Amino acid sequence: MALPPPRKRLGQHFLTDPAKIEEIVAAIGPSDTLVEIGPGRGALTLPLAGQTRHLVAIEKDPDLAAHLERQFAGNPGVTIRCADALNEDLSAYPKGLRLAGNLPYNVATALLQRWMELRMHLSDLTVMVQREVAQRLAAHPGDPSRGQLSVTVQLLMQVEMLLDIEPECFDPPPKVVSTAVRLVPKGSLPIEEEKRKDFIRLVRRAFASRRKTLRNNLPEILGRTWTETNIDPQRRAESLSGEEFVRLFQALGVAQ
Ligand code: SAM
Repeated sequence: MALPPPRKRLGQHFLTDPAKIEEIVAAIGPSDTLVEIGPGRGALTLPLAGQTRHLVAIEKDPDLAAHLERQFAGNPGVTIRCADALNEDLSAYPKGLRLAGNLPYNVATALLQRWMELRMHLSDLTVMVQREVAQRLAAHPGDPSRGQLSVTVQLLMQVEMLLDIEPECFDPPPKVVSTAVRLVPKGSLPIEEEKRKDFIRLVRRAFASRRKTLRNNLPEILGRTWTETNIDPQRRAESLSGEEFVRLFQALGVAQ
């Protein structure tokens, strides 16, 4: 049966470059249980099935899900689910779950945010996102792409950029370069779970006006807090390390 043309609203750009597919699959490596998000036409699903004991592929497009069901009908190690990955309850899967996928651009950050909350259930994630998003996720202090997402994700996960995937590796080619990134949850957190929302709020406000100094973005913080934490309030938010943000947050908690 003929495949439907790519659907833009579902972010459908299908990988077609065999060498890139091989590189991505090798970077993911063998797994016991792996959930693939957005398998599409199965470019990654087929080689992943060969190195995974139980592969679950979650595809929102019913036509593509039906196509994959037919393709993998004889393979008991592969389960195709026609579902929206945003609604999938990953906590129902065995702990230590691995996630992979060439994420649809329009829902990539929403998916990542959801998985952050579930991180203790996950072993790692290898996902392809727009290079700009990957750069923000991995940005170090001083990097111009560093922002609230970099600080808050890096508090919870280790981020590693793996490889770039150029537009011509896809059909149809997207307008931007993609990057595969690996995220591995960190064991212990410097901030208690119930205080994390407050921490994120502080970081967001510190980055509110990127050209302003910390003192201007956070005018309510008293001079002595800057002295105690040994952070110069004339600095800009992107120059701060995660540890410095944590120090500032903790100093404010003590002062309140
Ligand atoms: N993995 C395939 C590949 O690399 O060739 C397809 C990648 S394509 C960028 C993204 C895929 O995610 C599409 O097949 C699209 O239909 C699917 N998709 C989009 N939104 C989704 C969602 N919310 N849940 C699950 N799949 C989704």
